[in-house]
Amino acid sequence: MVAEIKSIDQLINEAKTAFRQQFKDEPNVAVYAPGRVNLIGEHTDYNDGFVMPMALPLVTVIVGKKMTGNDVTIYTTFDFENEEKQTTFELPQPTALIRAINKDGPKWAVYVKGVIANYIGNIPSAFNAVIHSSVPLGGGLSSSAALEVATYTFLDQLTSSKTKVSVNDKALACQKAEHEYAGVPCGIMDQFISFMGKEGHALLIDCRHLTSILIPFSDQNVVILITNSNVKHELTGSEYSSRRKQCEEAAMLLKKVSLRDANMDDIKYLESINTGKEIVSRARHVITEITRTTLAAEMLKQRNFCKFGELMTESHKSLRLDYEVSCPELDQLVDLALEVDGVLGSRMTGGGFGGCTVTLVYSQSVQKVVDNIKNKYKGQPTFYVCKASSGASAVPCSCK
Ligand code: ADP
Ligand code: MG
Repeated sequence: MVAEIKSIDQLINEAKTAFRQQFKDEPNVAVYAPGRVNLIGEHTDYNDGFVMPMALPLVTVIVGKKMTGNDVTIYTTFDFENEEKQTTFELPQPTALIRAINKDGPKWAVYVKGVIANYIGNIPSAFNAVIHSSVPLGGGLSSSAALEVATYTFLDQLTSSKTKVSVNDKALACQKAEHEYAGVPCGIMDQFISFMGKEGHALLIDCRHLTSILIPFSDQNVVILITNSNVKHELTGSEYSSRRKQCEEAAMLLKKVSLRDANMDDIKYLESINTGKEIVSRARHVITEITRTTLAAEMLKQRNFCKFGELMTESHKSLRLDYEVSCPELDQLVDLALEVDGVLGSRMTGGGFGGCTVTLVYSQSVQKVVDNIKNKYKGQPTFYVCKASSGASAVPCSCK
């Protein structure tokens, strides 16, 4: 089923309705922040490399109102199996202690608390808020960053902060929230794109220098099809850190700061000193993926979608064979997409072992891809047809 994507206005209206029900009051602040899909550049962020995501029309909205006193009450419209939908916590006094706000309460609320704790500038005041989202949770489209960035944008509105804080610093504050409060050692990509995404553009991010450039990506004839496999293989949890360690080991053997500084001659060198096969193939993925990503950015600039698509497909192959982070479901989704005429490229996106694939396809062929997957894929996929969308923003709240 191709999921219907609700407009931001519709989501905000639904959030306002929930706010009235929960708080018997009218919200006067409304914001949104998008989820993202990474087009190319996988497992390159922690190697100081490049990534190239785009913001999605799937967003998290927050509506709310500043309150007197010290209590913050937040309500999520998402139905968790074992978690409360609403929680109230006190902002610690004196205000300096807000930086060390506790992690008690439902797990989802720590994302909000983490952003409050790391907010730059004025100390946020008490508030009531409703969180409502069209980003699937835990599907690899970064509902977590969408929630953090929406929270930050909400606090900006609430405090009417006049302090000039760069978007880089805001994104870093949200990343810190995810590290410290959710305990997820994520890179900077998700928060960057959620703040800086722009309609009709992808964002090439240099993870070493923390700089980014917008690259036009809008053409009536092509769309991005995201297919959520709706599987997540529970691993021991050590896969991510073992890949990181292997990359560090390869860089160390090469006497480089990171694999960003390595090239294909270095692969030959690693082989010549009898480095373990796994280390060599992990390094090869990172080195080739960084090259593919910068080349893909060039191809996008030139509107060479055919070559761009080929690079996406090569990226998948490298993730499957060299980095070994794919799984049978993702491989099958990619293969089924590539069977269809009009598909330019397809790959797994995100950390791997489940989650989504991203496919570049001519608009006229997208339904054929969906049908092919529906007919042959054994699981229960969800489809989203997307164009590059805008980053976080406040929305005028008519009742302000
Ligand atoms: P992803 O970022 O890929 O969607 P994560 O596991 O990183 O997956 O983040 C998902 C978690 O973020 C959820 O389990 C929840 O704790 C929090 N979250 C995201 N969106 C919402 C929301 N709308 N309401 C409440 N919590 C949310
Ligand atoms: Mg996440």
